[in-house]
Amino acid sequence: MNEREKQLALMSREQMGEEEYHRIKVLTGKIKRIADLFTCIPGATEAFEADTPAFLKQYGLEDLDPEEMRLIFLTERQEEKKKMFTSDKVLDLIPESMYRYAQFVQNKLYFRDFLRDKGCVPINRKAAAWRERNNKRCDSALGGVNISFIHAILTIELAKGCSVGCEFCGLSAEKLTKLFRYNEENAKLFEEVLTVLKDVLGQAAAYGMMYFATEPLDNPDYEKFEDIYYNVFGMIPQITTAVFDRNIERTRALVHELDEKPGFIHRFSLRNLGMAETALREFTPEELVNVELITQYEDSPYFLPYTVVGSEREHVGERQKGPHTKRIMDEALADSLDAPVLQNEIRRMKDLKHVDPGTICCVDGFRINMCDRTIRILTPCHMSEKYPNGISETPAVSFTDGEDFRQKLNQMIDEYMLAEIPKNEILRCYNYLNLEESDEGIMLVSSQSGYRLPLGKLGKSPMEETLVNPAVKVVEKLMENRYTKDQIVRSLMEEYGIAPANLYWLLNQFWKQGLIVDSRFF
Ligand code: SF4
Repeated sequence: MNEREKQLALMSREQMGEEEYHRIKVLTGKIKRIADLFTCIPGATEAFEADTPAFLKQYGLEDLDPEEMRLIFLTERQEEKKKMFTSDKVLDLIPESMYRYAQFVQNKLYFRDFLRDKGCVPINRKAAAWRERNNKRCDSALGGVNISFIHAILTIELAKGCSVGCEFCGLSAEKLTKLFRYNEENAKLFEEVLTVLKDVLGQAAAYGMMYFATEPLDNPDYEKFEDIYYNVFGMIPQITTAVFDRNIERTRALVHELDEKPGFIHRFSLRNLGMAETALREFTPEELVNVELITQYEDSPYFLPYTVVGSEREHVGERQKGPHTKRIMDEALADSLDAPVLQNEIRRMKDLKHVDPGTICCVDGFRINMCDRTIRILTPCHMSEKYPNGISETPAVSFTDGEDFRQKLNQMIDEYMLAEIPKNEILRCYNYLNLEESDEGIMLVSSQSGYRLPLGKLGKSPMEETLVNPAVKVVEKLMENRYTKDQIVRSLMEEYGIAPANLYWLLNQFWKQGLIVDSRFF
């Protein structure tokens, strides 16, 4: 980078001014457009590799430097790239295009991690402990992809059902039967509900969304409710739409809101190649800079069907497709900024037994339907015959008005969001967890993911001379599915003389890690 570009790299948006900010946004959008083309258009990566200047010209990106783009996206200069990024003089060595694109990808992942680890943590102590435990449970239940789930604390549906009927719908959305239309009464109720959510959950509620098993753009009044949401939380909620092309100017206006108001990203689910081509034609690269394109059609170079893994899904005989491809891509992109490497990564993922999280749900909290005025609590899990949509949820509880909503919400937190191990219940481990001997000692291993917990490192036994590992003994007792917490402690104390404090500590750790079944949900 030259001196000016290096100075800009150290400035905020306010410091650099609108003109420079806009120039950088256009630059980033154009580079992202290359990645979008790779994702959406069959043969695009090969065309780029074969003749980069011609490729850039074909897609109106000729003002990008072909050599710089090859440096960003191709493997051929991988070593050189690594040296640049690990050098003390990284800002002298890399071109501005590469710096800005790397910054863009890293920022996106940083914000996702912020949401998961801090932003979406509610102020309510019970709700926070419950969410944290379920987030941890998903590590063993869903696998590594869990890192990309933000575990939002709430979602609000403004419709009953969905008009689109995508074949890849991971939530088996029902047909659209009702809309929550904007009128004085509904606007008041909506504002009251949001205000209660803010009171009870804090700013974490701001990072919810206004769709679940619904299509946000089905509701003609979506924007009016979004205004209320913005007034209460100071944020605009993220949208994932499978009908961005139903009214392009409406979608464009929603996308442009991200320029003016705090928000995160939006996502277009592209159901076929034609939709992808429309998105790339109708929206400029800078308009799509904060829009993720999720390819849900088989001829997309990065299409990755949900694979049927060694779980109950095999018996169900389903073969679900899902939108996690893009997430995996983003992970790899952050690491490598390299398209062919990405392709290899995707191919590698296809070969992995446990790539499929078995759910598309990234909400771990409240599902509020404004049409039928109901609240449920839901949490993601691996799809199975019992949980065909990859979620477990409580029965719906009805509310009538804002005050009633507050009461019911608090009652549900008390009833379902257990912060501690229930005292008088029989405890057991989830049935996908098994004990396994390995070179590193005894492990607790999940058959649904790559999760492995070395039990040898947990707990300190006062009976070391007898080689009893308290953690293993606790797990064995849990697997017997016969004892309450106190009974486990008493029997291990009597049998092996293990200190109760050590046993209670271990049981609490297993509970907090989401390894002990929560009978309210499973
Ligand atoms: S638009 Fe969303 S909710 Fe509706 S069918 Fe498609 S994936 Fe399901």
